[in-house]
Amino acid sequence: MPPVIIDCHTHAYPRELSADPIAWATKHNEAHWAKLVAPDKRPSIQDWAGPERMLSDMDAAGVDQAVLLGWYWEHESTCRWHNTVIANWVKTAPDRFIGFAAIQPQANVSAQLEAAAELGLRGVGELHQGVQGFNADGAGWHAMAEWCARHNWPINLHVTGTKGRQHPDAVATPHDAVLALARSAPRATIILAHWGGDLLLPAEDEVALEIPDNLYFDCSASPLLHPASVFQQALRLAGPDKILFGSDYPLRIFPREQSRANFTQYLRYIKAQTHLDPETLTALLGENFKRLLDQK
Ligand SMILES: [Zn+2]
Repeated sequence: MPPVIIDCHTHAYPRELSADPIAWATKHNEAHWAKLVAPDKRPSIQDWAGPERMLSDMDAAGVDQAVLLGWYWEHESTCRWHNTVIANWVKTAPDRFIGFAAIQPQANVSAQLEAAAELGLRGVGELHQGVQGFNADGAGWHAMAEWCARHNWPINLHVTGTKGRQHPDAVATPHDAVLALARSAPRATIILAHWGGDLLLPAEDEVALEIPDNLYFDCSASPLLHPASVFQQALRLAGPDKILFGSDYPLRIFPREQSRANFTQYLRYIKAQTHLDPETLTALLGENFKRLLDQK
């Protein structure tokens, strides 16, 4: 039996947003998103895929299920609107898609979370403390983390790297602030996107990192940001139970080789270049996420 593959980090973009990203972002006052997906001076590596194309890309690569993440919108109204779109995608293939909610932690979080639960969503993310303006001391963050712990909803946090290749318009998420969020909510399951920025990269000048027990790490967009050796580093520092497969589809994470986003190339890269033993590979590709979502 091939291992179960669950991609815990993909994005479902509504058609009306992908049709004209700049016009949409201007109308909804979501300037940061527009800068990331539609830069003026270089080609965008954002591909757009509707649910049908995404399912056929999943089939082609043997991906069983995918988490459709929301985005770190600056406004609650955009989050709520995006969540209805994610819920509609989930309805088209409820055994393949798992919906997570876009939430603005600075607004009325319990109303947002209850509405998302009503829509059938099962987690929160991707959130961004820099862009959405929250931190470990905020009442909104605490209320949200508490609610998520109670309902066993993982929270996916975007983490921006501090070295190496980074998106020129990326907004910082300092490591201390990220760790403070995790430590402030020990009962909540927290997934750090993109391997936690470069939290796991070797840093000779820093004291040994103590990773809180409630932290997990996804490998989304890793080939764009990190060398393949980060997989072994994550295994060593975080352990085989804490690493999760995520791609960032429909981002073209191999921009030179990919004209369209797909899952196949990243899975091939992971199998060929990261030297994970078969048991760890099975854990990374799906078993860890399955366990984390099923835990009560
Ligand atoms: Zn991200």
